[in-house]
Amino acid sequence: MLLYRQDCLDEAGEMLFRNNPLSAVTSQVCDWKKFCYGHCVLNVKQNPVRWYEIEQEISGAYLFKHKLERRTNELEGKKIALVGAGPAGIAAAIWLFEAGADVTIYDSNPRMGGVLRYGIPAFRLDKKYCDAYEKMFADAGIEFKGNTEVGKDVTISHLSDTYDAVIMGAGAEFPATLGIPGEEKAVQALPFLKNPEAFNIGKKVIVIGGGNVAMDACRTAVRMGRETWVYYRKTFENMPANPTEVEEAKADGVQFKVFQAPVEVKADGVVFCDCENVVPEDGGRVVTRIIEGTEHLVECGTLITAISEKPDEILLEACRGYDNVWLAGDFLTGPATVVEAVASAKTAVNEIIAKFV
Ligand SMILES: Cc1cc2nc3c(=O)[nH]c(=O)nc-3n(C[C@H](O)[C@H](O)[C@H](O)COP(=O)(O)OP(=O)(O)OC[C@H]3O[C@@H](n4cnc5c(N)ncnc54)[C@H](O)[C@@H]3O)c2cc1C
Repeated sequence: MLLYRQDCLDEAGEMLFRNNPLSAVTSQVCDWKKFCYGHCVLNVKQNPVRWYEIEQEISGAYLFKHKLERRTNELEGKKIALVGAGPAGIAAAIWLFEAGADVTIYDSNPRMGGVLRYGIPAFRLDKKYCDAYEKMFADAGIEFKGNTEVGKDVTISHLSDTYDAVIMGAGAEFPATLGIPGEEKAVQALPFLKNPEAFNIGKKVIVIGGGNVAMDACRTAVRMGRETWVYYRKTFENMPANPTEVEEAKADGVQFKVFQAPVEVKADGVVFCDCENVVPEDGGRVVTRIIEGTEHLVECGTLITAISEKPDEILLEACRGYDNVWLAGDFLTGPATVVEAVASAKTAVNEIIAKFV
């Protein structure tokens, strides 16, 4: 803050970049009410500092001029492979490169960024940030092997044999299922967000879910001119999405219906049941349950499901038993946030440095 006040923006940018190389991104996509803004000490008596705006101003400018440099020789001569070029892989690559390692990144997608490029829509995060990391890595000589699926095109055992260390940051892309009849007719949110124009969606769209993915899917559909609804099983307060995103979705024209649980997907719509909150007699946690006999068909042209995602269990299983393979990001934790992916990459990199130094 002092550097910012003194107008030393490059020094401030460097400080932020060293702590979190994705601060130009997290300052835009973090749920700041939960983090910096929500915890500001001025919250009690005055207005909290809008730190994320300051961070965006500093880091947003710094990212585009930063050139990677070797900072130490702790990992000099070590060859390290990263699987996944999402936030975890990008952050790890930067710290490993700075520590002297020879870094190669593998990704099944053609370009870098993971969810930042292929999930979060451009109206929320400009793709120029992913482009900046691509350029920074190319300039530094960090090799990117796109269109390469680890587990299929290259085995983990090959990576473990070829490299001194491997970090698996393969994300959590496998959709959870509703387990209801007709579900195969639904469109999955992640493929839809990756390439919305590839889907011939109907005039009325229903999105099921209440998380960030559901909000991005409904906001994308409404921007495509569709009448868009979000149906959610519980209340607004229970929605895991960043509340600002829910408000923005409403402002975009998305309509919401809560206490609705899908029970069947039909050709012309979705059968929902009403739900209610019930307080157990023993005073335990409130549970949301379906009210029997309330089945009703809601017509729609397309159903998009955005319930939850999980890591590829086969790939996870294939990683076991190697003492030079680390896990990071959503692949380690399950679906989380960009800043948590960066934090877990830092832990993996520190453990690798500790092993070799
Ligand atoms: C639509 C959406 C919106 C979100 N919005 C927010 C938000 O607003 N704020 C926030 O903080 N978080 C948000 N998140 C969560 C956040 O994006 C993730 O927590 C974060 O991207 C995790 O980073 P990661 O590097 O672990 O994985 P990812 O970003 O998922 O990257 C994983 C990479 O691994 C690659 N990969 C997967 N399998 C293989 C394989 N077998 N071989 C090679 N490469 C492979 C993938 O192609 C991908 O590039 C959102 C997530 C989604 C899906």
